[in-house]
Amino acid sequence: MPKIFENIRAMQALVDVLPIAIFVKDAESKFQLMNKACEAQWGMNFSDLQGTDASQFFPPDQMAWFLSKDREIFSGGCQVDFEETFWNASLKQNRLGHTYKKPIYDESGKPLYLICVTIDITDSKKSLQELQLSEEKLRTMFDMSPLGMARNSMDGKFVEANNTFLSIVGHSLDELNRLSYWDLTPESYAQQEAEQLESLRTKSKYGPYEKEYINSSGQRVPVRLNGVQIEGSDGEKFIWSIVEDVTERKIAEQQIHQLAFFDPLTKLPNRRLLLDRLQQAFSVSARNGQHGAIMFLDLDNFKTLNDSKGHEFGDLLLIEVSKRLLSCVGDGDTVARLGGDEFVIVLETLSINQEEAASQAELIAENIRTSLNSAYQLHELAYHSTSSIGIVLFRGHLESLDNVLKYADTAMYQAKTAGRNAIRFFDPNMQAALEARAELENEMRQALSEQQFCLYYQIQVDSQRQPLGAEVLIRWAHPQRGLVPPVQFIPLAEESGLIIPIGLWVLQAACAQLKAWQHSPQTAALTLAVNVSAKQFQQADFVAQVKQVLTDSGANPSLLKLELTESTLLDKVEEAIAKMQEIIAMGVRFSIDDFGTGYSSLQYLKRLPLYQIKIDLAFVRDIASDPNDVAIVKAIIAMTEALGLNAIAEGVESEEQFNFLDKHGCHAHQGFLFSRPVPLLEFEQVLSKFMQD
Ligand code: C2E
Ligand code: MG
Ligand code: MG
Repeated sequence: MPKIFENIRAMQALVDVLPIAIFVKDAESKFQLMNKACEAQWGMNFSDLQGTDASQFFPPDQMAWFLSKDREIFSGGCQVDFEETFWNASLKQNRLGHTYKKPIYDESGKPLYLICVTIDITDSKKSLQELQLSEEKLRTMFDMSPLGMARNSMDGKFVEANNTFLSIVGHSLDELNRLSYWDLTPESYAQQEAEQLESLRTKSKYGPYEKEYINSSGQRVPVRLNGVQIEGSDGEKFIWSIVEDVTERKIAEQQIHQLAFFDPLTKLPNRRLLLDRLQQAFSVSARNGQHGAIMFLDLDNFKTLNDSKGHEFGDLLLIEVSKRLLSCVGDGDTVARLGGDEFVIVLETLSINQEEAASQAELIAENIRTSLNSAYQLHELAYHSTSSIGIVLFRGHLESLDNVLKYADTAMYQAKTAGRNAIRFFDPNMQAALEARAELENEMRQALSEQQFCLYYQIQVDSQRQPLGAEVLIRWAHPQRGLVPPVQFIPLAEESGLIIPIGLWVLQAACAQLKAWQHSPQTAALTLAVNVSAKQFQQADFVAQVKQVLTDSGANPSLLKLELTESTLLDKVEEAIAKMQEIIAMGVRFSIDDFGTGYSSLQYLKRLPLYQIKIDLAFVRDIASDPNDVAIVKAIIAMTEALGLNAIAEGVESEEQFNFLDKHGCHAHQGFLFSRPVPLLEFEQVLSKFMQD
């Protein structure tokens, strides 16, 4: 040992320069040496401790601990280190020290000294604890985050992940650690992933983008993710990804999409989506030259089911029909519901050859028709339905979408008019006829507002040829076409519903005329027969209308005769009878027009509160030539007689016919023999002529 260490002062100086607390105790744990750093650390002077065991500074239990620890070290014989509390007198606080103690013995092995080094670790320990605490906090936050977070090594292996991420992918951390990013990525995302990897390579980050993970049960979970590449302190690179589970958002999006583009009842595409698909189909067809077809399908008599059984049954039928339709078409084809009982089917990729394409489409349409014709079980109701289908082929953009749809609709209409349960291809002539009809309908509306309609009067006489009154027959004084007869517009007016305002106008005009005739004795007793169409009669407020017109005009109700046809009365007989009775109660009478052309049974006729039966002109016309008609006319008159009704013949053109009818008991007559239908002024002349005779 160098001599310098034998000098105690030199020794003291040496330890004093050391920046670490050093002290030496003897075998009795009494302080023998202490450096400056130790004085500072303990806030004491060595002089206060020298030769003592410091028991003056510590409570007895702590002292006992120090002493027994020292004894243990001496008996242990080797260096130990441990944490212990020490007192800092100037700070007046306990602090934590990390103390190293090494026992020294003499040659005989007797304990001499304990060489002690102590470091105040209070502050570092505290910051370490704080550090641990904040790490825990971070971990909690990490796990509580609603966003999934995961760390992957650069080769894609999962290193760590928070709870949210684990629940998104349905794996435990252990399982995840055995997986790579690619194990969770469906193959279909390969291209997208390659782009993201490229972004990671060039910009050290990727996303945000959307993909799907395959979770532990093999299901797809839609996620939105982005991430960064981070280099750790050891230089190792890894990828942190932030992952948002977007399942709910996707469901909401899907619901919105569903509502916007699908029919809620049948789940089929709606009109909007249909138009979209058609546009695409047109483009595909334009590219590949193949034909496509559009079918308009309408269920026959659907309204009857809806009206009689209620909408619930109607809905059931529509759902079943949509299933059957889907089963009849291919995957690439579209079945859409336009609303009500109207469906549209778009067939794609039919033949390039038009005829072949037509027969392909027809075959499918025929399958559909057959499928929809087979029995339905709607709850307890066994139901049978048929359909009318219109087809039009398309190829590329040769025709506009609107036109093609219109053509398919026309073809469907044609199938309906062909007696329903039928398939029809679009026919351009039909289209022209329909367009003319549409124009006529428009013009008819105008005619009403511009008062282009007028009434002609055709005289009705008794067997003495004395005027009884007239039938009013409508005419349309068309500004370009001249006088249009009713056969050319009444059927369309009935179909379009325009017959209702038109019929009302006729009734008002006739009643006004009756009222006007009241003032002259020559005309005061004349009756007027007004034709009432089925639709008009079937209106819920028809009775009220008649009453209103009578009141407004002040006409005598007993001079008004309403002509109904048999078919008007066939439907809902009880209701019809009740209505007629209410009107009869006002004093009005009823006549059955065109009698003999319908299907009236005697039984049924007997129940109707009629005044008169009008023998149809078809029988009258052939009285002279057709023995069958002779028999029919005779039978009708006899029957009328039996029922106590009045008989009138229409279409009487010859004396021969008149004589025959008169001979067989027909009470009244109408026809060209007496006068054609004429305008009012002319009619009044006809009247005076008859009265003179
Ligand atoms: P309808 O009620 O059976 O009227 C009789 C039709 O026979 C009238 O035809 C009349 O001109 C025609 N006629 C009368 N006498 C003879 C004859 O001797 N020989 C021949 N060949 N025909 C004769 P019009 O005026 O063309 O009316 C046709 C149909 O139009 C009417 O048949 C009626 O069903 C309907 N109609 C006319 N006016 C109205 C109306 O105001 N309302 C409704 N709903 N229908 C009307
Ligand atoms: Mg008539
Ligand atoms: Mg008639």
